[in-house]
Amino acid sequence: MKIVRVEAFPVDLRYKPGKEFLVSYGVIDAMQNAIVRVTTDDGLVGYGELMPLPLNDRAACIEELKPLAAAIIGQDPFSLREIYARIDDTISDERTSRELLLKGSLDFALHDLMGKAAGVPVYKLLGGSYDDGVPMHFSISIRTPEEMGEDTAARVAEGFRTIEVKLGRFQGELDLETEIARIAAIRKAAGPDVVIVADPNQGWTVDEAISVLPRLEEFDVYVEQPVKGLDDLAVVHSAIKLPMIADECVGTSEILADIIRRDAADLINLKILRTGGLFEACKMLDMCEAAGLGYRHDNVIQTRLASTMMIHFSTTYHASLPDCGGTQFTRTIEDIVKDGEGVYMDGGTAKLHNPDAPGMGATPKPELLGDPILIAGR
Ligand SMILES: [Mg+2]
Repeated sequence: MKIVRVEAFPVDLRYKPGKEFLVSYGVIDAMQNAIVRVTTDDGLVGYGELMPLPLNDRAACIEELKPLAAAIIGQDPFSLREIYARIDDTISDERTSRELLLKGSLDFALHDLMGKAAGVPVYKLLGGSYDDGVPMHFSISIRTPEEMGEDTAARVAEGFRTIEVKLGRFQGELDLETEIARIAAIRKAAGPDVVIVADPNQGWTVDEAISVLPRLEEFDVYVEQPVKGLDDLAVVHSAIKLPMIADECVGTSEILADIIRRDAADLINLKILRTGGLFEACKMLDMCEAAGLGYRHDNVIQTRLASTMMIHFSTTYHASLPDCGGTQFTRTIEDIVKDGEGVYMDGGTAKLHNPDAPGMGATPKPELLGDPILIAGR
């Protein structure tokens, strides 16, 4: 079996009014991703998803995807080590986040293909088993403390047991007393048993983090990547008591080795698309388990297609924080995956419509795909 064609299709989804995602780096009210399709000489197809970085620069990302797509034409989709050696030769030694997202889009398609060729779901390929779904977290947008408390109460009533709280600059302003008030309002609304992850998305300085975090101890929260970069993260980690999660600085397994060596965090937030896909993510979580470092699963800005693959992965690796990200699809008007396929939400739990389907068990609706913006091969 050989790969004969790689294509990418634009997909534009609009967020529902009032469901826009507000984080410290801006307001997300539309998803301009791409769906990647890999075809073999025996007619099998696998699907992956590309989140452009920056989010509004899909054209540049597709341009950068071309050499990666060309590198896998003619390869057997099961020859992952050979394929990744070829892909790694086409990208920079720095392995930028954008390059890893490009690689991840192909990796998802290859795993979908392998599952279809073997006649088994992806989680079985990875050594996992599907039980009764995966508990999900919900991300609360930055707003006023009162609004965030109300949003939290609604999500907890829906069944979410982990709440991720977006902190940092709001409408350009940062006020540390308001940050504390947000967490206080959310803990009050959530009650004592809900896990809370406070996530400023690198929005604080080292001094701000070291002054604010001790005051959050009474609210029993995890804190995720309050400052930029691994160096600053290590400084803050050594100075505070709250359990700290590394997120934005987690790229490849080499960076993870650095986090472990430097004791820069208590857990990592693993976003499988951002690490370059399932193959690298498996290696990284094996490293976490060997080193005693905790981890949680999280998503990028992605449709229900990529979220379906995340559920396959999350049933395989049982995280220290038992929640998974991937609920952005509940915010959009359009839904890219065919009805009755892939992941769906049952309260705060993500379940698969067809857990025994080969591959990922999710295919895109053709009518929501634009004309191909990349065609490699024949
Ligand atoms: Mg985060």
